[in-house]
Amino acid sequence: MKKRTFIKLAGTVGAGMMIAPLASCGGKNSADAPKVKGSRPQPFLFEQEPLGYDFAALSPAIDPITMEIHYGKHHAGYVTKLNRALHSVQGMEEEVSLVELLKGLKPGDTALRNNGGGHYNHTLYWRTLAPGGAPSPEGDLKKELADTFGSLDAFEKEFATAAATRFGSGWAWLMRDSSGALSVTSTPNQDNPLMNGIVESAGTPLLGIDVWEHAYYLNYQNNRKAYISAFMERINWDVVAANDQA
Ligand code: MN
Repeated sequence: MKKRTFIKLAGTVGAGMMIAPLASCGGKNSADAPKVKGSRPQPFLFEQEPLGYDFAALSPAIDPITMEIHYGKHHAGYVTKLNRALHSVQGMEEEVSLVELLKGLKPGDTALRNNGGGHYNHTLYWRTLAPGGAPSPEGDLKKELADTFGSLDAFEKEFATAAATRFGSGWAWLMRDSSGALSVTSTPNQDNPLMNGIVESAGTPLLGIDVWEHAYYLNYQNNRKAYISAFMERINWDVVAANDQA
């Protein structure tokens, strides 16, 4: 009997927003499996969750063409390559969430690092930009942000600076760090704070901004700061708060 691999993205959002993540894949453990071409179970472990809003819904902050290409090409590409990479990994018989997968990565796990990170990061990004929800932090999170950074403005400035000064491609994050505190960090490429075997500052991402040029160049060209400002005004803080409860 073939073992099957179940992978899910979990631990990032409240129950109402969970991705429907379960897809299956034949494990690569099957050395005794028939080698007939095409007989292998389909290697699609992960799927993009539906965006949940129109490509134009974040306009003019983020234009529809950027959204369409970013979601439909860039993010989709990470998912395809993640699934391809997982199909060649030994020992993936156990059910494992994407979070667990990322936490277990080593620096040399290049394909899983780039594409697993790419899938996780973009999923969080689309959810956190979903229209509706609180336009600014509220409740306990608001208080903690102010206590931690000095004020809400100071937090926003630190986050925006981390995004603006990330050299090349990468992300800036608000996270719950390993000491339990809120902190701001940034990572190169598609790394993220879950990758505790790779990044300097590990934690649970609550909010992430993509500062790859593909995220803003059509609309903002080289003006990354203008994109960052627009992003800051489109955050759904209910989602950020839910990410902290997961
Ligand atoms: Mn991107």
